[in-house]
Amino acid sequence: MTTPAETIGIGASSDTAFVEFRHELFAAGLLHPTSVDGVYGKSAAYERIVEGVLASVTRLGVGRFEAVHFPPVLARSTFDRTGYLSSFPDLMGSLHVFEGNDRAHTELVRRYEADGDWSEILKPAEVVVCSAACHALYPLCTGRLPEAGRWFEIQGYCFRHEPSPDPTRMQTFRMHELVCVGDPDMAVTHRDSGLADGLRMLRDLGLEMDAVPANDPFFGRLGTILANTQLEEALKIEGVTPIYPTEKPTAIMSANYAQDHFGSSFSIETASGNVAHSSCVAFGIDRITLALLHAHGLDPYRWPPEVTDRLWR
Ligand code: 5GP
Ligand code: ZN
Repeated sequence: MTTPAETIGIGASSDTAFVEFRHELFAAGLLHPTSVDGVYGKSAAYERIVEGVLASVTRLGVGRFEAVHFPPVLARSTFDRTGYLSSFPDLMGSLHVFEGNDRAHTELVRRYEADGDWSEILKPAEVVVCSAACHALYPLCTGRLPEAGRWFEIQGYCFRHEPSPDPTRMQTFRMHELVCVGDPDMAVTHRDSGLADGLRMLRDLGLEMDAVPANDPFFGRLGTILANTQLEEALKIEGVTPIYPTEKPTAIMSANYAQDHFGSSFSIETASGNVAHSSCVAFGIDRITLALLHAHGLDPYRWPPEVTDRLWR
């Protein structure tokens, strides 16, 4: 029988481990392929794991963090202030819409029916797709912060244009973040304690975890300098777990100290009137789900009770 995976040209015979893992996920019905790499349908069993992971992150922040769920689109005006376009132009996604008159509509349909490029007729919308869940939050903090800073638990869908057959590299994936906006020492303490809490939570779910200094994939020649500075100043630490024997361990969470980057872009002041600093501890919910499937097997209903009791308590 031909599996959905084989119909789009992916077979278990491939020698790369991630193609094999993806094939297994398709064959088990956990992920469903689309015609685009990194965009998948997900089964009820997959989503049940997602819910357990989201709840586990929420428990880390209960009582201390204000929960805000954002949609997968972000105001373009907010995006422009994040600096994402300068640093990661190759990863961002822009949304375009039709705002023309009848004549433009006729031309749009003509091109569409002739298999021409109808997208040229569209205009950028007032929203873009979210690149990081925390970006939507900073405009809410503009102005002066309370003495204790502000602490948020953010959930949202992110988009990054990185088509890949590796199922752990999705173009669109869920991110759950614990964010602190406040004094520099608050931000650093949150980054470090959030990392420790996150690593413990993931180890308790039976994942082998390591913490490693990391850098974001800044674009171009200037990007290399920015990446080196980020590494030297130890601003980003990733929680990684082995998924593929021949590849570097996969980052399933990251703890990031943004210094005053968002504080200055969004005019956020501490209670004492200084530019606010921020940090975020980001959990890649889809990657954690895949890491759990890799570690415990493709049938979550047969996972060890010490794992399922924690996920679905
Ligand atoms: P960061 O902002 O550190 O790049 O991303 C935060 C977390 O989101 C990462 O640690 C990772 O778990 C998750 N993430 C980043 N890129 C991808 C991706 O391409 N696919 C998936 N599924 N998760 C990602
Ligand atoms: Zn963030």
